[in-house]
Amino acid sequence: MNNLKTGPWHLSNLYQKLYLILLPSMDTARECRAVVHLLIAHYTAQNKASLMSNAQVSITSKNIQGLKQAISRLKKQEPIQYILEKTTFFGHEFYIDRSAFIPRPETEEMVFQIIQKHSQPYMHILDLGTGSGCIAITLVKHLKQAHAWGLDVDAKALLVAKKNAEQLQTPVHWCQKDILNQDLPSQKWDIIVSNPPYIPARQKKYLEPRVKHYEPHQALFVPDDKPLVFYERIAMLCKQHLGLGGTLYTEINEDYGQAIVDLFTQAGFTSVQLEQDIQGKDRWVRCSGLL
Ligand code: GLN
Repeated sequence: MNNLKTGPWHLSNLYQKLYLILLPSMDTARECRAVVHLLIAHYTAQNKASLMSNAQVSITSKNIQGLKQAISRLKKQEPIQYILEKTTFFGHEFYIDRSAFIPRPETEEMVFQIIQKHSQPYMHILDLGTGSGCIAITLVKHLKQAHAWGLDVDAKALLVAKKNAEQLQTPVHWCQKDILNQDLPSQKWDIIVSNPPYIPARQKKYLEPRVKHYEPHQALFVPDDKPLVFYERIAMLCKQHLGLGGTLYTEINEDYGQAIVDLFTQAGFTSVQLEQDIQGKDRWVRCSGLL
């Protein structure tokens, strides 16, 4: 790593060098390739097209320092998104730091379905446990004249969400709330959406170090004896705050698919659909027809 110099570098040589340095710290070659691409794009300010052209680049000495620090953080299993303080969700670039959970591709799939199914304008949307704000912001960006509220218990996560709304020029009404214990403003929404914490604490040991050592536990884990605590509360909040004809979308742990379907059916939803992600895992439920 010491001979990482300012250059000039042929991009293919730089790519190869970084790839060999990082491969031992990565789970797969594919992941390593993706990380190296992100590093090169970030520290040489090249876009995707020029990365393929094998141009010659120089790296400023400040960026060499940044790159070396990034490498040592990657070797400690820190997620690339936290190191570069950015991530992509639904084609938009979001700011991210350790105060918020890194948006996942499965959540993009749920958001895609919401966008497909709700093309009418003026939707009022409530995002419970908004984190980085990626769900609320993306929905407002893609649904005509939509208005969204994003709630989170954590003030630092809300700062991330606010920064993203500004960066992406998308107004959202942010509000700090402990949804498990606090009431919501007396209002109704057309769509309630949530990606709540859903991993039982006992499963922590099976998670990758990258997740369990760096991402906010408050956004991930639920008590072993109450794995459905957020869904119970969401069902209750829907009864008070979901407007007539409204729909609830909530991401789930695949281990509890049927239990969650039963829970929302018992709560009075006449239609409860269990939806699968691209890997075929039960990943969210879509509930409507609340009696
Ligand atoms: N899907 C996330 C993961 O695998 C967990 C998301 C959540 O708890 N809401 O890390």
